[in-house]
Amino acid sequence: MRIGIDLGGTKIEGIVLSDDGSEVTRRRVATPPGTYDDILLAIGDLVAGLEHAAGASCTVGVGTPGAISPATGLIKNANSTRLIGHQLDKDLERLLQRPVRLANDANCFAVSEATDGAAAGAGIVFGVIIGTGVGGGLVLDGRPVTGAHAIAGEWGHNPLPLAYDDERPGPACYCGRHGCIETWLSGPALSRQHEALTGCRLDAHAIALAADAGTDAVCVQLIERYCHRLARGLATVINLLDPDVIVLGGGLSGIAALYRRVPALWTRFIFSEPAHVRTRLLPPRHGDSSGVRGAAWLWPRT
Ligand SMILES: [Zn+2]
Repeated sequence: MRIGIDLGGTKIEGIVLSDDGSEVTRRRVATPPGTYDDILLAIGDLVAGLEHAAGASCTVGVGTPGAISPATGLIKNANSTRLIGHQLDKDLERLLQRPVRLANDANCFAVSEATDGAAAGAGIVFGVIIGTGVGGGLVLDGRPVTGAHAIAGEWGHNPLPLAYDDERPGPACYCGRHGCIETWLSGPALSRQHEALTGCRLDAHAIALAADAGTDAVCVQLIERYCHRLARGLATVINLLDPDVIVLGGGLSGIAALYRRVPALWTRFIFSEPAHVRTRLLPPRHGDSSGVRGAAWLWPRT
């Protein structure tokens, strides 16, 4: 059996999956305040509790914000800053006395959906997280692609493609650049766009609901522009990677209009016959569980 751990800024979730992908047991603890060592110990306790409940020893996969730098072996790019600069994979292996596989949380999402989710059976899968931030993960034949800098799939910090004059230089991004895709397509970005037009702050979910209902012209217009930007962003991903399936995850993946509008809009930006664009844009099958399930599937079926 397989344990998957999803290490988040507010909670640490653990799951045990059987070989057929069914959930044996699941536990969740609050991420402890305090030091890096407190986080390690919490993961250790969680793994012990899961194995006790499952009655078996298990493989362990961990999904984390950021990634292990291939240059230094240390965590980088993590919004959970207590992890940065630590050898999280090696420290967990020492603590748990076994090999541990560790991957970026967006990669885990993509692995989950490619293994037994919306993209099951597809050869090239691009998993997209649109939520507080914008990330992505690439899975080829069921295996996550890490890359030379462990950033494969991180399309959120590319500039918004085919930007219009009023989209340049674009909002400032925490990464130091302007106009990153994340600054246009994250949930907070959509809220800011609404606030700029109306002076009133709505969260992304409320904007999507109002747009779906068709009752609020500003929200309808904002979601249409959101779809257009997402279509431009994903078309360049398609030109580069030619995925069979793109699966959306994160808080904004629940916006129904995306699955209708974006494929209608992206054909004009894709370098292929417009009538025969075959990449499918799909909602996640496992929803919020994909992070923890994908971490478990870092040890794939053999
Ligand atoms: Zn950026």
